[in-house]
Amino acid sequence: MTHIVDAELVILGAGCAGLSLAARLARGGHAGARHDVIVVDPRTEYTDDRSWCFWRPEHHDLAGLVSHSWPGWRFSDEAGMVAHHRVDGLRYQYVRGSDFYARARERIAASPRVRVHSGVRAGGIRADAGVVRVQTDHGELVARQVIDTRPRPTDALLYQSFSGVEIESEHPLPFDSAEVGLMDAMASDSEGMSFRYTLPFGEHRALVEWTRFGASPVPIDTLAGELDAELDRLGLSGARVVRREHGVLGMGGARPGPVPIAGVHLAGVGGGALRAASGYGFLRIQNWARMCAARLERGDAAVGHPPEPWLRRSMDRLFLQAVRADPERTPEYFMALARGVSAPSLVRFLSDGARPDDYLRLIAALPTLPFIQQLFARTAVGAPLERVPS
Ligand SMILES: Cc1cc2nc3c(=O)[nH]c(=O)nc-3n(C[C@H](O)[C@H](O)[C@H](O)COP(=O)(O)OP(=O)(O)OC[C@H]3O[C@@H](n4cnc5c(N)ncnc54)[C@H](O)[C@@H]3O)c2cc1C
Repeated sequence: MTHIVDAELVILGAGCAGLSLAARLARGGHAGARHDVIVVDPRTEYTDDRSWCFWRPEHHDLAGLVSHSWPGWRFSDEAGMVAHHRVDGLRYQYVRGSDFYARARERIAASPRVRVHSGVRAGGIRADAGVVRVQTDHGELVARQVIDTRPRPTDALLYQSFSGVEIESEHPLPFDSAEVGLMDAMASDSEGMSFRYTLPFGEHRALVEWTRFGASPVPIDTLAGELDAELDRLGLSGARVVRREHGVLGMGGARPGPVPIAGVHLAGVGGGALRAASGYGFLRIQNWARMCAARLERGDAAVGHPPEPWLRRSMDRLFLQAVRADPERTPEYFMALARGVSAPSLVRFLSDGARPDDYLRLIAALPTLPFIQQLFARTAVGAPLERVPS
């Protein structure tokens, strides 16, 4: 049976993952059907809704998108204990959502190979004799392969909920502009751990975020109220708000299993792109997009986000279980890592590059008993702590 194929590849979702892959394919010579690639997304406009940070050397393939970077970062707790970190040759780098979206969409618009269908919501997907049929609210699309980057319901061990404002002030801000406040004023209460994340863009401008780690997502209004109180404490309640961003990231969610539909692959956060221990996903998504685009350009099948290696997954889960089991002690765990593990080791751990000796350093820095208890909790029941229902 022959089918009229709309595209070799249909990408569901034109957010970070969908646009990253589509922009790479727009540059390449991927051979395909009538239209090589179609991207569908219900959004019709892009706002400066988020920003992405990561550690990289100064020069890399995305350096053109980086609007700010810092040589150092800091951890502190509410008792005033502080750890300053920096790593020779590495910078903490900041990409504005609006810059990323604009560049990706420009590249895509310049290519006859990739078409974006904005305002189109994808629904069910099914395999049908060698093709994949995608239902949308604007009719059916038929593709040889589908990359699905739509968000999926979260089933996480821990939630990172945050609300932030980019502020501008006439008076100099009370931050060192050469250093990021990665986790400042760490404290805990019955809801879990809270901390402040600060990206100073200069003497007069900064992004300040209030973050909570907890067993359930924190409502945005609660976070926004806590952020206001923090700005007040810092004497910044009069600062002009330029932009807002907020989110809830599920950390340590169940591993997405293989999709039972031939030709369909999961990517982005819904495909497991968020690092469980940190909530970072941007560079992981870029690495997947690079790999997937290279395969497609060679004529191979697309791939979804790769599974987490066993050691990293196990360490992350153990850490999250310990945090969830004893939220009162979470600031102590983070300060123990910040003070007891060298900055290069900690960055390698957070950036997916940990070596066996880095894991040993992490284990040596953390208090032994709570982690041993979690190890036994895992082996005794043969499974991690009970999951939070979504
Ligand atoms: C505010 C915020 C800040 C973050 N900061 C960082 C950071 O500093 N560093 C880092 O590494 N990571 C960060 N992350 C985590 C992660 O990198 C981002 O969430 C990233 O945007 C995930 O990309 P994605 O493509 O999976 O999801 P998204 O970018 O959210 O894209 C999903 C897309 O799917 C579309 N969609 C939804 N339903 C449908 C449907 N039915 N049909 C078709 N399309 C659909 C949506 O409209 C959206 O465009 C942050 C996340 C948030 C929310």
